[in-house]
Amino acid sequence: MTDLYLKPHKEQSLERRHPWVFSGAIASVSGASPKEGLVEGDLVDVRSHEGRFLARGHYQIGTIAVRVLTFTEGEAIDRAFYRRRIERALELRRTLRLLDREQTDACRLVFGEGDYLPGLVADLYAGVLVVQLHSVGVFRDRQLIYDAFREALAGRLLAIYDKSEGTLPFKAELGATNGYVWRDTAFDGRPPLCRERGLLFHPDYEKGQKTGFFLDQRDNRALVESLAEGRSVLNLFCYTGGFSLAALRGGAKLVHSVDSSERAVELARDNVGLNFGDDSRHEAFAEDAFHFMERAERQYDLLVVDPPAFAKHIGVLQNALKGYRRLNTRALQLVKPGGLVFTFSCSQVVTRADFRTLLFTAAAAARRDVQIVAQLGQAADHPFDIYHPEGEYLKGLALRVL
Ligand code: SAH
Repeated sequence: MTDLYLKPHKEQSLERRHPWVFSGAIASVSGASPKEGLVEGDLVDVRSHEGRFLARGHYQIGTIAVRVLTFTEGEAIDRAFYRRRIERALELRRTLRLLDREQTDACRLVFGEGDYLPGLVADLYAGVLVVQLHSVGVFRDRQLIYDAFREALAGRLLAIYDKSEGTLPFKAELGATNGYVWRDTAFDGRPPLCRERGLLFHPDYEKGQKTGFFLDQRDNRALVESLAEGRSVLNLFCYTGGFSLAALRGGAKLVHSVDSSERAVELARDNVGLNFGDDSRHEAFAEDAFHFMERAERQYDLLVVDPPAFAKHIGVLQNALKGYRRLNTRALQLVKPGGLVFTFSCSQVVTRADFRTLLFTAAAAARRDVQIVAQLGQAADHPFDIYHPEGEYLKGLALRVL
């Protein structure tokens, strides 16, 4: 086992069970093979300057040097370990009544640090498990992880699809390719049709973004549905139309869905068709959201504004905040007096306080009175560890705009 020794007094955050070790905190390494040195993905024990065991985790190259798997000394990182952690994650979903439901058969089963499995994300779409590996450490352990999932989900799993091509560190040159890594004989090879609160959708994990569907917005869609009756709705950054489906079932009189991706818009149309047939209330536009808003000639009763992460890291935070401000200013101008805006940021580095401040600025620029009526976040199958606030990435506000 390789030992990483921290600089003096750098053990505090690990003692508070924060699951990352930053590269600047490391003093020295011992035990690595002298020829190879420390290789990305290696399992390491992190020790205080005095040599006290603190945590065991995967080493990686970058600012975050170790992602902690366990705080228990000597705990083996084997299939049984992954199985225990997966069981713990499944138990949470059972507690939350997110598994085995009639109306919803798509759920995030593992959310990285939030489920004590840094670097691992897994979503279940009606029997097909879509796995994303985000670190070299979990990539090296992938077979153990697939096996642990197969054991934990025995009898209910149709296939495992690994979608890590775009999520692993590019420089590691691991040559990962997206594809099925296991299939049951009963699996017909096509992504299954899924349901979210009874609404049908195609999870587009083969070609789409992330794992194919944004499960984190489930509860917020339900809220929009409950308030959509009789309203005209603009769903900006609609992706595959999750919010549009909710608004249509909620009785919206008109829904405009906008996304710059042709494929997303096509899927949004398909998903509307699946649920509502040829519904004249819905129109989808493959267009830049800013451009759409510039040329819009009407106002709406309800807007959903759910852009991609403008800031992927702290270095671009200021620019991202400007982008969000501009977007929200325009959105606030497009809502009818007395209407509602559901606005989101999924940038991890934008805090709730930042988000509120930028909406304050946008409201002032749009010259509208704005009431915050709800503070929104990611659905419960995206939990975050209380010692790892970085896991809270989705922030939303429901606004009434006068
Ligand atoms: N609200 C969606 C998820 C949005 S993801 C849901 O509930 O599923 C962000 C989406 O923004 C992606 O589909 C992406 O194609 C789209 N996008 C990115 N830049 C855009 C732009 N400038 N204009 C419109 N859409 C954009």
